Amino acid sequence: MTLTGRTRTAGVIGSPIRHSLSPVMFNAAFVASGMDWAYLAFEVPEGRATGAMEALRALGIEGVSVTMPHKAAILPALDSISEDAALLGAANCVTQRAGALHGDNTDGAGFLDALRIDEGIEIEGQACVVVGAGGAGRAVARALAQAGARVTIVNRSAPAAERAAVIAGHSARVGSMTDLAEASLVVNATPLGMGLGAAPGGRPEPLPFDVTLLAPGQVVFDLVYHPAPTPLMVAATAQGLRSVHGLGMLVYQAAHAFRAWTGEEPPLAAMRLAASTALGQRRPG
Ligand code: NAP
Repeated sequence: MTLTGRTRTAGVIGSPIRHSLSPVMFNAAFVASGMDWAYLAFEVPEGRATGAMEALRALGIEGVSVTMPHKAAILPALDSISEDAALLGAANCVTQRAGALHGDNTDGAGFLDALRIDEGIEIEGQACVVVGAGGAGRAVARALAQAGARVTIVNRSAPAAERAAVIAGHSARVGSMTDLAEASLVVNATPLGMGLGAAPGGRPEPLPFDVTLLAPGQVVFDLVYHPAPTPLMVAATAQGLRSVHGLGMLVYQAAHAFRAWTGEEPPLAAMRLAASTALGQRRPG
């Protein structure tokens, strides 16, 4: 890629940010599309989200992906936000047009694309359980409910589950692990499986739920995208279940940002290859 005086810029803000897969994914997309664009990772400390949005305006940066800890903090600094970002209280994508900043949340749309395009699953009318009620769980529960699924949210702490059910709307409800047996689709929206919580002494991290509660025909979608396959997917496959890895959602939510910033169709294969290659180069955990 040759940078020129006309190179247009995009990036990601967060802290920590050096581990982000987004630069390799977006820069591969720009190269594959023959576009004179560059994407950089900006380490923006907590408390500096408003300053970062001012920098976007001053520098004419076309758009940024937004990750922890800024997804909620940037909202007051934007000129407009989508209904999804407003309801979720979080934006993961900012687009600048004519000096105005617009915030959106692309996680739910990315999840539905992965389900429909990669897996061929139409979820309307189906029972779904989302385990976990943080930022990703809320976005996925809302997307599923909007797509016409019957959504049950199961979470460690009840207040977060109740909040997620309200945000999801469309009669989404809070449930328990006993609801798993009745669901066509069970989504892991907890970080369990990333290896962050491995117990001292080599005891493996627990699975987010007991796959023996499920039967063949049910689908397990793990939002975790590293390692591949995840421990939950390994357990689900051993149980005869179909399982889905989180990388597809990661690519599709980025694809929505690519469209918003450039107005072009994203080169999905190049983005997926770049992300999976970068993940393959990292050690598990
Ligand atoms: P988050 O906001 O921190 O929420 C984490 C959720 O998991 C909370 O509901 C939390 O329960 C629950 N949880 C955490 N540790 C737990 C444990 N030990 N046992 C049971 N429940 C536990 O995180 P997030 O942003 O939603 O991300 C969740 C996962 O989704 C991460 O692995 C992330 O990488 C992945 N993700 C993937 C994509 C993708 O594109 N594939 C996109 C976004 C996120 P409490 O409410 O009780 O604390």
